[in-house]
Amino acid sequence: MPQHKGRFVPIVPHPGQWYRSMPDLGLIDPNNYYQDISIVLHEVLHNVTGMTDDMIQSALGLSTNAVSDNITQRLLKDCF
Ligand SMILES: [Zn+2]
Repeated sequence: MPQHKGRFVPIVPHPGQWYRSMPDLGLIDPNNYYQDISIVLHEVLHNVTGMTDDMIQSALGLSTNAVSDNITQRLLKDCF
């Protein structure tokens, strides 16, 4: 099962490559809307595409050795 390298919580894998994940709710800050929506989008990408953190990091040209928050920060910068 793909493992998040940040503080995200992988949930039960689906058959095959599909799995569900959700953010660590401790990361949600009611005063930081764009950070929060970027965290949610990060998880939506996993759930919709079935891609692991490594796969998303590679597709975005990000380091695969870093915690997966680099995905969230890229989404925050580029999408919001
Ligand atoms: Zn992730």
